Amino acid sequence: MKMIIANWKNYPQDLKTAINLFEGYKALSKRKNAFYMIAPPLPFLPIISLQYKGKLMSLGAQKIDAVEKEASTGLTNAKHLRDLGCAFTLVGHSEQRNLGLENQDIKRRFYDAYGKGLAPVFIVGEKQRDKQGNYLKDVRSQIRVVLSDFPKNKACNFIMAYEPVWAVGANRAPKQDEIAFMAIYIKKELVKILGENRAKKVPILYGGSVNEHNIQTIMDTEVVDGVLLGRASCDIAQMAKIDSLISDK
Ligand code: 13P
Repeated sequence: MKMIIANWKNYPQDLKTAINLFEGYKALSKRKNAFYMIAPPLPFLPIISLQYKGKLMSLGAQKIDAVEKEASTGLTNAKHLRDLGCAFTLVGHSEQRNLGLENQDIKRRFYDAYGKGLAPVFIVGEKQRDKQGNYLKDVRSQIRVVLSDFPKNKACNFIMAYEPVWAVGANRAPKQDEIAFMAIYIKKELVKILGENRAKKVPILYGGSVNEHNIQTIMDTEVVDGVLLGRASCDIAQMAKIDSLISDK
């Protein structure tokens, strides 16, 4: 089953809106056309986590901080999120990188989440493209800095997401062959670092300007195991459409 990660960002402006939206997802998840992974705004997570105990979807965080000591005022601890029933956290979203996070900061967060039992959804993507293909080096180094130390004997319990920064919050997604190329590029990097058997267990998602008009093409793309949605994920009517388009496959 394909995965759909709903990154609600800061779109729901109040708790009631978030709870209503979540009710919509509960109904969608029962159709079993996709596995929904919801990342609500952090302050709403505890309440939303009390509304659902099922297994048809999962809850996660939009970010965590790497918490190394208890005296850490204001940091978001992966262990606390795990305790709330969260299963995953986004790591390396461009809107977090834009706040000044470097690859090494992303790496700390990745292993902190992983070590505390939250599956990292590790997001990579170039800011812009150039004809010479230098953007590929950017993506490659985002991957290598984080994953080259991945322990040899540990399960690859994480997800990769390719989100070109220029497509996030915009109205232009890459063409299908470009998405396929990048998904394969990322998979090949994973094979080099983790070996073929382990790399093939890591799902690769696409995110950036996904909507009801391009969902079918993207879901049909080679090596793409699902999508990461921003704006569309907060419009339950559009999500219902997306869900039924996937079911027609
Ligand atoms: P949009 O779907 O709004 O382009 O955002 C994508 C995104 O950032 C998902 O993490």
